[in-house]
Amino acid sequence: MDLGSVHDLAQLPTLDAKTLLDHIKARYHNHMIYTYIGDILIALNPFVHLNIYGPDIGARYNNLRFKSDMPPHLYAVSDSAYQNLCRTGNNQCCVISGESGAGKTESTKIVVQHITQLCKHESSALHAKIVQVNPLLEAFGNAKTAINDNSSRFGKYIEIKFNTEGGLLGGKISEYLLEKSRVVGRGKGERNFHIFYYMFAGLSPEQLKHNLLDKPEYHRNVGTTSGYHEERWVSTSGKTKHGSHKHILFVLSCFQDIQGILAILAAILHITDLEFEYDQDSDGVYIKDESIMELAADMLGLPAEELAESLISNVTDVRGEKMISLKNIASANDGRDALAKALYARLFGWIVRQINSLLKGLEMPGNCIGILDLAGFENFEVNGFEQLCINAANEQLQFYFNQNVFAWELEEYKREGIKAKDVKFTDNRSLLDLFLKTPLGFFSLLDEESRFPQASDRTLLEKLNKNLNSSKEFSCSSKSSQNQSFTINHYAGQVVYHTPGFLEKNRDHLSQNLFEVMQNSESQFVADLFSSPISGTGALENKLVLSFDVIAFKILPLSVLRDQREVGSNSKLSTLTYYTVILFPIQNSLTELMAKLLDAEPHFIRCIKPNNMKCADLFQPELVSKQLQYTGVLETIKIRRQGFATRIPFEAFMERYKLISYGLTESVLPTAKNCTNSLKRLPSKDWEVGKNKVFLKYWHAEMLNDLIREQ
Ligand code: ATP
Ligand code: MG
Repeated sequence: MDLGSVHDLAQLPTLDAKTLLDHIKARYHNHMIYTYIGDILIALNPFVHLNIYGPDIGARYNNLRFKSDMPPHLYAVSDSAYQNLCRTGNNQCCVISGESGAGKTESTKIVVQHITQLCKHESSALHAKIVQVNPLLEAFGNAKTAINDNSSRFGKYIEIKFNTEGGLLGGKISEYLLEKSRVVGRGKGERNFHIFYYMFAGLSPEQLKHNLLDKPEYHRNVGTTSGYHEERWVSTSGKTKHGSHKHILFVLSCFQDIQGILAILAAILHITDLEFEYDQDSDGVYIKDESIMELAADMLGLPAEELAESLISNVTDVRGEKMISLKNIASANDGRDALAKALYARLFGWIVRQINSLLKGLEMPGNCIGILDLAGFENFEVNGFEQLCINAANEQLQFYFNQNVFAWELEEYKREGIKAKDVKFTDNRSLLDLFLKTPLGFFSLLDEESRFPQASDRTLLEKLNKNLNSSKEFSCSSKSSQNQSFTINHYAGQVVYHTPGFLEKNRDHLSQNLFEVMQNSESQFVADLFSSPISGTGALENKLVLSFDVIAFKILPLSVLRDQREVGSNSKLSTLTYYTVILFPIQNSLTELMAKLLDAEPHFIRCIKPNNMKCADLFQPELVSKQLQYTGVLETIKIRRQGFATRIPFEAFMERYKLISYGLTESVLPTAKNCTNSLKRLPSKDWEVGKNKVFLKYWHAEMLNDLIREQ
């Protein structure tokens, strides 16, 4: 067989790691970036615009009879999700995964675009809106990193809702794990969120002046990286994005509160410019440049003295009495950064809520296609708390993938008495335990330590070492007093994490007095943003919010969720007590996300980065091979070939395929024997019949449809 000519690698007669790599490489050099492995799509990032997109090509993928009728494509996967939704009435989800820079976000856009195209029965502004809000989200949620010029610094799940006829009802975006610490600092050569640069590039001198802004280089958190103009990265549309800052500002102007948004962005820049100095007289600190603080106060609609007070002192409530204590430089810096981060995170939450109200559409019952684009696995020279959060979330996704592709399939064979060879796969369950177990999992220990005011990153490391050292996934050399790191063996490789900053980031709460000052702002916009202790959630006590990000993705063990699904209960998460700490009414938690994923038929898209140079036509075999290995692609092929991708209960099988061997009016019971009669007419005999279901290889679906058509 010609190298690279096979669209579905699961059909190769022999398949080992090398053959797989050779095929993918040959296809890549022929600009065939998409390849199926059974029902999973591998997508290589071409890093250049290819002529494989657009409405004309998209139309050829509409309503495909069989996926194999056309070369592999994201369009085919989108089409299959849409057709499944219309045919079965089940929710669908496209899980798009891969490292940073592998192409998840570009793939997401292509999928969303195609799906909205597919259901375009009637011309509706909603279709356009779903696609158009994306640049706005990216402006606020993406940034240039060392790896990707347009890296998503948040995860998103886009749900597109349809009625039973497949007509579009509305859309909804959920955001996860925004890397808000980016507004106060980032690695060398990295940049702040795009929106800050767009502001300087797109606002007129008068508008800048109105927001008390001057030149970007005067601000610590935009000016220090090279230039502030937008990068000209190439997108899948083939157009450079230069000039889109104007577009973003235009889209923003659809919101009544554009000035409110700009004022907060400007305030964040002013706040993060503040510096504190030791004050000998009071043994506290003073603000070095009061005029900067006044600019921030002005932008936030606050009396300058109140803001200054809350930045340099702490007010605590001791048995009903207010006690004022002065901050030292470190705690004043922490408070300043916490304020900037809270402002940005709340603004981002607000933007997403506005987008959702634009996309709300019709409130009718329906089903969804969800598309998940969550930051990929990260391993930098220096990895901190953010990398740990992202990587832990990726462990969850990998677990979900494994469960879907391997574990549940094998369990089902067993239940149904089907013979299938055991396939070994890398189970990452022990890593989930390492992170999530209570009370001695990583996050519980971190939360516990965060509650001690005297705790330090050093005591944290000691605690982790003491409790986790028996786990083979965790290591930390406690001997050297200089040691400030620990190592976790993730499914995707070993990552060394540096502990400085962990406690502060996990605590990450705004002091009560800063919070109250914001709530009492004269600017209605600012006051509204701070109307609840956590952006977007109900009335939680501020003091409960010790570690929002962490709580947000302490998900229930999937086995618990799955058991619930299997017994058909309505997933009343709040009745479960396994990880009680997550049971706060937090919106957009990964718990909720996993519950949604479990309730949908998955379509997996694995994005692969062919090189680290972001350039076209360069295939680095070792890099690709590593990604194929840790995404479990080889294992996937094995089980897809040995296993049965399609499992249909007898009733459903009979409903769909009765006509193959029985008359239209004939009454046929859905029994193993009657199903077997129909299956015997298939040209290949590698199907199985279990106790309640028929088990088919993924190629049988086409054969069955052919037989039906012949009737
Ligand atoms: P992160 O996890 O950092 O957000 P990502 O996986 O979302 O990374 P993308 O932002 O989608 O990665 O892709 C990185 C860059 O690769 C894009 O800006 C674009 O230049 C290029 N790229 C990705 N997919 C394609 C494609 N299908 N065609 C052309 N270029 C692409
Ligand atoms: Mg992305």
